[in-house]
Amino acid sequence: MFKAVMQPIRELLLFLFLAIFSKATAMKPGYDSRASVPSDGGGSSYCLSWRLAVEANNVRAWRTVPTQCLRYVESYMIGGQYDRDVELIVDQILSYVNEIVLSDDGMDAWILDIDDTCISNVFYYRGKRYGCDPYDPSGFKAWALKGGCPAIPAVLSLFNELVEGGFKVMLVTGRDEQTFGQITRDNLYKQGFIGYDRLIMRTAADKGKSAVAYKSEIRKKLMEEDYRIWGNVGDQWSDLQGEYPGNRTFKLPNPMYFVP
Ligand SMILES: [Mg+2]
Repeated sequence: MFKAVMQPIRELLLFLFLAIFSKATAMKPGYDSRASVPSDGGGSSYCLSWRLAVEANNVRAWRTVPTQCLRYVESYMIGGQYDRDVELIVDQILSYVNEIVLSDDGMDAWILDIDDTCISNVFYYRGKRYGCDPYDPSGFKAWALKGGCPAIPAVLSLFNELVEGGFKVMLVTGRDEQTFGQITRDNLYKQGFIGYDRLIMRTAADKGKSAVAYKSEIRKKLMEEDYRIWGNVGDQWSDLQGEYPGNRTFKLPNPMYFVP
C-alpha cells in the first residue's frame, strides 16, 4: 500500500526536477553573458575598458594605474600595440598634412608636446610599475636630467616631414626652462629632433599654472604673432584643451599617467 502511494509522488518529483533543470540550462547562454570571460577572470577585459575610457577622457584626474592592470599596461606599452597605435595616428596626421596648402609667409605652425610625444619616458615608468606607483617628482627630475629619453620613432618621422614640408614646428612642454632647458635641448638633438622653430618651456612666470592654462597662453601668443596653428599633438588631454587648440588636435595614447 505504502509503495503504491509513493511511486506517483516520486515520478512527480522527478518530473518537476527535470523541468526546472532543463529551463535553467536553456536560459544560461543569454542570462549569463560572462560565461565566456577569458581564463584570467576578465582582468585584461577590464583593463582594456579602463584604457579606452582613459583615452576617451571619460576617466579623469586618475592618480595611478589600477594595480590589476600592471601587466596589461606593460604589455601594451612594450609589446608592440602602443607603437602600432602611434603609427596609425601618425598616418592620419600625415594624410591631413598632405592636404594643407602652405602659404609663403612662413607663418604655418605646428605644435608638438615633448614628453611621451616626441621622446619617451617608458623606461622610467618601467621602474614605477608603469604608473601603478604614484607620481614621484624627484624621481622624474633625476631621470629627465640624464637626457636619455629615446625618440618615439613614428613621431620623429612626423617631425621631419613637418620641418621638410615648411611648417614652423613649435615644441611646447610643461618642463621648467631653468631646470631642464639645456638637457632637454641636448636630449632632443641627440634623438634627431633638429630644425624646430622654438622650444617653449615654463618660466618662473608660469609657475603654478595648470597645463591647460599655460599651454593655452602659449598658443594665444603664437596666434597674436599671426601664426596659423594647423595641428597640435600631445599625449595628454591637457595639451589639447583650452583656448586656440589648433585647427586639428591629435591625442597620442598614454595609459601610464595623467597630467591635469
Ligand atoms: Mg606629454
